[in-house]
Amino acid sequence: MRCPYCGGSETQVKDSRPSEDGAAIRRRRVCPDCAGRFTTFERVQLREVVVLKRSGKRVPFDRDKLQRSIDVALRKRAVEPERIERLVSGITRQLESAGEPEVTSEAIGELVMAGLKGLDDVAYVRFASVYKNFREAKDFEDLLGTLGDGILPPAAAPGPDAAAEPEAGAPGRRRAGRP
Ligand SMILES: [Zn+2]
Repeated sequence: MRCPYCGGSETQVKDSRPSEDGAAIRRRRVCPDCAGRFTTFERVQLREVVVLKRSGKRVPFDRDKLQRSIDVALRKRAVEPERIERLVSGITRQLESAGEPEVTSEAIGELVMAGLKGLDDVAYVRFASVYKNFREAKDFEDLLGTLGDGILPPAAAPGPDAAAEPEAGAPGRRRAGRP
């Protein structure tokens, strides 16, 4: 493992232990050349997952990107890091074990929304408002109708840095009978 600071190749493992959810090994490393310290995670990857985006582009599934999009939705929410880790690992496992050659970004977005709904209502609405784009105000009302009070308006939504980010300019879903 190369040092991220100086590029040295002889970094040493100082400490090694399971992550909070037991799905990874966390290693604390130090570089003898520059004394830089960093942490690496070793995880089981059951198989490579390819994500088919709305644009038609295919990209490798990126667990870190999924983690970031969930972190953004959960910003300043009182949710234990351990539960977030379990959600990210759970979604990753579902994708890896689904047996499909590729998975759509929509399908990942649905998994994230289902997971967030059980974790934190506000984070759920934040993610959904970006993911679904709320092209129709009705969608937002429908969503709010399924939740309690204390929900932020879509203006407070995070930027579209989501693993399942909607492509800009993608056509919105329209209901039959509506203009
Ligand atoms: Zn170094």
